[in-house]
Amino acid sequence: MNMNINFSQLIEWRREFHQYPETGWAEFWTTCKIADYLESMGFEQILMGTEIINPDFVRGRHLSTVRQSIEKALVNGANPKWLDKMQEFTGCVAIFDSGKSGKTVALRFDIDCVNVSETKSDNHKPNQLGFSSKNEGLMHACGHDGHITVGLGVAQWIMQNKDKLSGKIKLIFQPAEEGVRGAAAIAASSVLDDVNYFISSHISFCASSGTIISNLKNFLSTTKVDIRYRGKPAHAGAAPHLGRNALLAAAHTVTQVYGISRHGEGMTRINVGVLKAGEGRNVVPATAEIQLEVRGENKAINQYMYDQVVQMVKGVALSFDVEYETEIMGEAVDMVNDPELIAKVEKIASQLPQIHTPNAEYAFNASEDATILGRKVQEQGGKSIYFILGADRTAEHHQSEFDFDERQLETGVQIYTGLLADINSK
Ligand SMILES: [Zn+2]
Repeated sequence: MNMNINFSQLIEWRREFHQYPETGWAEFWTTCKIADYLESMGFEQILMGTEIINPDFVRGRHLSTVRQSIEKALVNGANPKWLDKMQEFTGCVAIFDSGKSGKTVALRFDIDCVNVSETKSDNHKPNQLGFSSKNEGLMHACGHDGHITVGLGVAQWIMQNKDKLSGKIKLIFQPAEEGVRGAAAIAASSVLDDVNYFISSHISFCASSGTIISNLKNFLSTTKVDIRYRGKPAHAGAAPHLGRNALLAAAHTVTQVYGISRHGEGMTRINVGVLKAGEGRNVVPATAEIQLEVRGENKAINQYMYDQVVQMVKGVALSFDVEYETEIMGEAVDMVNDPELIAKVEKIASQLPQIHTPNAEYAFNASEDATILGRKVQEQGGKSIYFILGADRTAEHHQSEFDFDERQLETGVQIYTGLLADINSK
């Protein structure tokens, strides 16, 4: 196998994607650019749109943002050929089929940014070197520009070594990881149906350069849900009895959901993050919206929290004679990494001179929607892993000053290609 990785090419890609951050479900420029690169490398199968996205499971997608972002992508030089193919859904999956029998491996790289304005500080490397965000209010402040780059580096290696590989490799460039919105729609498509191994990772996060967290533990299952109440407006002085008070329904819901009993078999969380209601001081409020999330130590406990919330929403709607609707805006599940893949990652990492700790463990206590994809592969008898690619950082993730050690992009490509060399060369 040719193990040469073009480090300066990785840097160039990363800095290019860093300049054009796009938020979840709006990564049109990003997807077009990724597809251009994949096509120029020689990938013949690049799937998009409903080939990889099941619209029934799309979470937290806003059509106005989608449309604006398509316009902007065109202005910034996105290839219209891909925009047509995408059918307003972002992300793409490149498939390499060796034509030889062997395992099917899916690698997942998330591609969205966060709603953060990049710092203007002179101490910030993207400002010093002129590659800071050109999209005001948006920034690759979670390192997903690095994830895209690692994915492209792996793609290039696949093409360099295509005659030596067996089986199939699927490179999933997933939209909308932030808010855990994108994975469910891919999981509900046919992309993973034949997959034996699923591998994904995050750069930096809780580990510095030289460390690989080969076994990330304690992923929390979570459901993000919006609840909307519709009542009836009325004159607050002359005819309040003709109104139906949506604000009051929402306020009761908030206090009730915090009263959901804890679960005896594991940890739970609930947070009401947003409550908006009402139209005017002297009008019985006719609309209200709640944005909340529940979490649980596992899928069943999270489901318990979600079911309890829905039960209370129904009860309150009945009490106040208002209508309600709920919409799932994001979701992730828990996942346990498979020992076989942990061992493979550790073995590869321990052979890299820049890695001093190839086998760290860490309790994540947060959520990541790669778990939905990984769990699906496990449920059909395959193996999955989600690891952390350690990288020094200048600030924490989602902060304006965030930047990471770009040398670790090479480490990322080395680990993924090491795994492919192991799994797809027999
Ligand atoms: Zn992230």
